[in-house]
Amino acid sequence: MKKLIAANWKMNKTAAEAVSTADELKKLAGKEKNADVVICPSFTSLQSVAKELEGSNIKLGAQNMHFEDSGAYTGDISPLMLKDTGCEYVILGHSERREFFGEADLLINKKVLSALKHGIMPILCVGETWEHRESGKTNEVLDKQLRNCLADVSTPQMHHVTIAYEPVWAISRGNPNQKSATPKDAEDAHAFIRGVLEEIFDKKTASSTRILYGGSMKPENAKELLSKKGIDGGLVGNASLNAKSFYEIIKAAE
Ligand code: PEP
Repeated sequence: MKKLIAANWKMNKTAAEAVSTADELKKLAGKEKNADVVICPSFTSLQSVAKELEGSNIKLGAQNMHFEDSGAYTGDISPLMLKDTGCEYVILGHSERREFFGEADLLINKKVLSALKHGIMPILCVGETWEHRESGKTNEVLDKQLRNCLADVSTPQMHHVTIAYEPVWAISRGNPNQKSATPKDAEDAHAFIRGVLEEIFDKKTASSTRILYGGSMKPENAKELLSKKGIDGGLVGNASLNAKSFYEIIKAAE
């Protein structure tokens, strides 16, 4: 299957900076056909980045959304607002949303269902902490997150969902020296996730669902990670902030 490489710019870049990086990336990867490329800037940059990406193969995503269409939810953004900007994807359940904003599986599930209802493709993040891994609970945690966050998603809807396996302990949080998961650990987790998807849905759906790896993916390790069986792309934070390094990761996915 064609790999998907998504950039998570987190709370970085003003609109002018985001447009400038998008412009650089468009020149490098705007005609990319061998991998799907998505960039997820902050809410305030979505509209201007969408304009910049016009006529290219690069798609737009958001980093979060509310599950309601509208209402008294001060400071939040609805799926309709995202659609308005041209967003096709939305990252949901990122570990930083879970840790710093108290988002739990039940809420994430509501967001997944709402995104699907509105034709926005969720990139659902799951992953264990270091404590979970050390105590042998990785698979248990992944199993629970997947079953809870995908509750009531139908099999046809699942074809629009991407999973991102993001071991929390491997996420760089801006530290370029942070170690990623080993390719073997990532491969094992992806195989486990696919097995759970097969149990929830069916074999065909599980094998056609893209499972991305996220956590300190960078030009130096992208090729090895992306060549592993069952790793269908990457969700990239720190190394996506620079167009050239993100482009090297895209090339590694071809
Ligand atoms: C992320 O937080 O989604 C991520 C993958 O970050 P990084 O690549 O910086 O580890």
